[in-house]
Amino acid sequence: MRLRNVKGSREQIAANEYTIKDAEQIKGQWKDYFQDGKPIQLEIGMGKGKFLMRLAEKNPHIHYIGIEKYSSVLVRALEKMEETPLDNIHFIRMDAENIVNVFEKGEVDQIYLNFSDPWPKDRHAKRRLTSRQFLERYHNILKEEGRVIFKTDNRSLFDFSLEEVEEAGWTLEKCTFDLHHSEYLEGNIMTEYEEKFVAKGNSICMLQVFYKE
Ligand code: SAM
Repeated sequence: MRLRNVKGSREQIAANEYTIKDAEQIKGQWKDYFQDGKPIQLEIGMGKGKFLMRLAEKNPHIHYIGIEKYSSVLVRALEKMEETPLDNIHFIRMDAENIVNVFEKGEVDQIYLNFSDPWPKDRHAKRRLTSRQFLERYHNILKEEGRVIFKTDNRSLFDFSLEEVEEAGWTLEKCTFDLHHSEYLEGNIMTEYEEKFVAKGNSICMLQVFYKE
């Protein structure tokens, strides 16, 4: 998702209370930063943030941090936050490629990847958020056996992801090719893209993995 450049979006983000600035300086000190001992969960590539807001409302005992590459997308989430203020939701505008510069090993409890960009060309495979390169980054920030949960309607991206998690030595804990007709549907929180694809009749694939040392 890349929206048309929104004029002033960078300034809007810089001035907003929900966005964390200079996140790299907090690396290794996230517990001190929040000062309440609540676990930290991330959505990487959160888009306009609907999923994260729904989760944050439901789980006030968890801090949710949305990571988004584009200012033009992130400002849409910030606008929504003005309608429904929540104190356990935060945003960082950054490319997730640099996520290990922001979190130390063990600082992140769980990672959500929802409807990540497919990058269909083979030469772009390492940009996919479920590539072995990204899985290595997640391993380097997650707590022991912290989960990565991935949803998509893109079957070839899902098949690629299954191969990558296996190749990288992660344990597949849950897997379905049709989440909405599966045992895992209960408690599922819909994302913006998921709503769109379900309405079109697409099947949603989901996997949940963790890394055991
Ligand atoms: N997760 C949302 C949902 O399910 O409705 C949005 C899905 S949208 C297809 C993917 C989002 O991931 C876009 O907003 C895109 O800008 C963001 N994104 C893609 N690659 C990223 C990266 N390397 N770092 C941070 N965000 C990224």
